[in-house]
Amino acid sequence: MKTAEQRLNEALQYCVTQGLKLTTLRQTILTILYEQANPLSAYDILRILKLTHPKAEAMTVYRILNFLEQNHLIHRITSCNTYAACDMLMHEHHAQLLLCERCGYAEEIEIKQLESAVQTTLKQYHFKASAKPTEIFGICEGCQATAN
Ligand SMILES: [Zn+2]
Ligand SMILES: [Zn+2]
Repeated sequence: MKTAEQRLNEALQYCVTQGLKLTTLRQTILTILYEQANPLSAYDILRILKLTHPKAEAMTVYRILNFLEQNHLIHRITSCNTYAACDMLMHEHHAQLLLCERCGYAEEIEIKQLESAVQTTLKQYHFKASAKPTEIFGICEGCQATAN
């Protein structure tokens, strides 16, 4: 597991290659996401941000989350209205997320065969999918172990 600091360093490198500016507040919000195992809502992020930035406002958080999402640094989990930091910054991908229905755990995975099967099939339907992540819901390993 990479530390939040290592992930932030990767993000900074990624931003250099993409010509993006990662302001201090953008870095702070990214770090908040890197430090949490589970995806967070904008409200959760604001609550954590307020511990160090008492004057932070919801609008600012939304604006920054929007920027981070547009630039693929984070993924928005549509069904839960939460955000997860991207784990595969260095290569282009369509995000696929495993989401635990019990504990909220999320993990970004890459099933290349799934992506190519989806793309091939979508062509037959003349359907152009948006960039929203593919969400796979279920029960994580940890929760399965404690289920019975
Ligand atoms: Zn990703
Ligand atoms: Zn779980």
